[in-house]
Amino acid sequence: MQPQIKDYIKSLKRDDFDSNKVNLHIHTSFSDGEGDAFEILRQAHEKGYQKIAISDHNSVEAHKLIQDEILIPAVEFDVWCGYVFMHLLAYGIDINHPELTPFYAKNKRETELDIIRIFAKRDIKKLIQAIHNAGGIAVLAHPACCWAISLDRFVNKLISLGLDGLEVYYPYQRHRGIIKFHTAKSVEKIADKYNLIKTGGTDLHGKNLL
Ligand SMILES: [Zn+2]
Ligand SMILES: [Zn+2]
Repeated sequence: MQPQIKDYIKSLKRDDFDSNKVNLHIHTSFSDGEGDAFEILRQAHEKGYQKIAISDHNSVEAHKLIQDEILIPAVEFDVWCGYVFMHLLAYGIDINHPELTPFYAKNKRETELDIIRIFAKRDIKKLIQAIHNAGGIAVLAHPACCWAISLDRFVNKLISLGLDGLEVYYPYQRHRGIIKFHTAKSVEKIADKYNLIKTGGTDLHGKNLL
């Protein structure tokens, strides 16, 4: 259990993300990012980040190699919830927890290619349970991209499965390829309505931290 990480994430405000003190959504070359995990951590220290989370797709390889006071153990899972394909971020997990390890990618392709990752067969309910049992929190990534007719109803369903938070602070406009079905504003409203933890990050896939 790492209650201090959960409390830390809970305490964060929009400004912590906007001012580049914190970035909780970063990919490295352990999945489909271009950056080297060690190099990104070095940049984070140099730029004075308080905390970062490396959240590779279905992979915790970076965290097997690197532990650091400013690095939060994290991973971004591909998972279906009914007819909605979604990304679920897990923060503060014990990466070696036996309930969590079956959910990790079996090979590099499952961390990179959308065409492979969309066939993910993870059970959303068991996945959220495993994240909790591994001491972590489960957060819906970039919710405005969820192909759900009613985002409110979809989030409500995820809450019934144990969802802890929504990724509210997310630069949708910086991702030209990303399709938005909802607005960033409506995401924040829903987070407030259900008293969910609000997280944020840039979904960095490049080499350089801002
Ligand atoms: Zn990616
Ligand atoms: Zn991502």
